[in-house]
Amino acid sequence: METAEDVTRMHLVGGNLALDFVNTRTGPPVGPSDDDVLTGYPELVAWGVHAGALTEPEATALRRLSHTDPDGALAAFSRALSTRDYLDEIFRPLAAGGAPSTAALARLRDDEADALGHAQLEGGSTFAWVWRDDQTLARPLRPVVHAAVQLLTTGALDRIKGCGGCRFLFHDESKNRSRRWCSMDDCGTAEKMRRYVAARRRRSEKA
Ligand SMILES: [Zn+2]
Repeated sequence: METAEDVTRMHLVGGNLALDFVNTRTGPPVGPSDDDVLTGYPELVAWGVHAGALTEPEATALRRLSHTDPDGALAAFSRALSTRDYLDEIFRPLAAGGAPSTAALARLRDDEADALGHAQLEGGSTFAWVWRDDQTLARPLRPVVHAAVQLLTTGALDRIKGCGGCRFLFHDESKNRSRRWCSMDDCGTAEKMRRYVAARRRRSEKA
């Protein structure tokens, strides 16, 4: 059973909040996932803080709200999981050079409209959407949904890639677009080790 603590050990490798949200499910590059750090509403809130989508005071307010409205928290958590499913149906095909599901895009549009309906525009050197006054249990999802729309509308779609060693998606920000792994410490090292062992086997077969 995953805990809120496990959530905070997740590597944020996506380079975009929506991709990091999709990456809360782990496993091999193809086929079903084999693990999931989102196991309940408290874990969703913990992930939001870890990923920078929520401040600690916002998380405290949401935890309090989820205790007074457990049914609402359950509904918000189930909505989070279905949001992650449709984001997966958008970004995984894009990472493979295909087209996203149109049904998923329609759901994203509806959720973005809902998210912006709960946001304010706040300015500094530039203006941005903020959800400071959003006292609803869906609050953790707002910036995730908005990050997905931002990536689709202003990002370089050919930089969205899947890791060669696991199911993580990321936005490749390397200069020559050569990134292949979620992280060199995890899948990159595993791949280097695999090549090293294979090369050594070939050498010993020749000897
Ligand atoms: Zn990986």
